[in-house]
Amino acid sequence: MMTTVAETLQIAARSLHIHSESPRLDAELLLAKTLGLSRSGLIARGNDVVAGEREQAFCALIERRLAGAPVAYLTGTREFWSLALDVTPDVLVPRPETELLVELALQVLPREQASSVLDLGTGSGAVALAIASERPHAAVTAVDVSAPALDVAIGNSRNLGLSRIDWRLGSWFAPVAGERFDVILANPPYVAAADPALQKLNAEPALALCPGPTGLEALSAISAAAAAHLHDGGRLILEHGSDQAPAVAQMLERHGFTAVRSHLDFSGKPRVTLGSVHSPH
Ligand code: GLN
Repeated sequence: MMTTVAETLQIAARSLHIHSESPRLDAELLLAKTLGLSRSGLIARGNDVVAGEREQAFCALIERRLAGAPVAYLTGTREFWSLALDVTPDVLVPRPETELLVELALQVLPREQASSVLDLGTGSGAVALAIASERPHAAVTAVDVSAPALDVAIGNSRNLGLSRIDWRLGSWFAPVAGERFDVILANPPYVAAADPALQKLNAEPALALCPGPTGLEALSAISAAAAAHLHDGGRLILEHGSDQAPAVAQMLERHGFTAVRSHLDFSGKPRVTLGSVHSPH
């Protein structure tokens, strides 16, 4: 029996619906990848037949998706802040809620003047690249402890022609000893070790997701050391779990940050907390 593009999508979406929150979108992205088409191209070719090697390749992708691989690892790409990023299993798949981290940083970064930004735990480079694309006068430094992750980020900066970023290998502030910035931002690992959500995320690097038993370990280490790396008036902007805002706000206040505020992501969950540092005169 001959199966068309439209039918193939329907069958695949049905088989994915228990495993995925976006079965139709997943099926479209994976079939588009297999056929070398865009998603709108699939609609235009709805009556074309999918057969032979292409059908087999698509089935193999669906099986890997059913086994828990994120679509972005199967297609090798993910869009963030309208930038097409390469992603591999060495990096966390950039999440849409992380765009809030970028938005808040852009609110405090001047458009026409020089500024300096540090992105800790950059992974695919998503946040650093989004900032660099929006603020050509900003000097962006990005740190990651994983050499393979940093390779992915550097590849992305080349592909996007955003080559001004200073990439550094190491743990949190270790590669920027003695340096200060106007803005420090991070989407660090913040899922607690016993959180059942972690099982669903097992295709992604544990290092990028889980810092330890409480989930607050990395946020706490960054908050404790950040003021020493900020200029007077500088900002620390941290992404965190939706139930961690009070704990993160407390941490920032304990470490002398002022004007501490948490902001809601697009689904209404407290997702990013920001504080300012002012040294006493
Ligand atoms: N937001 C991610 C998730 O829960 C976690 C990312 C992180 O730990 N930084 O899927």
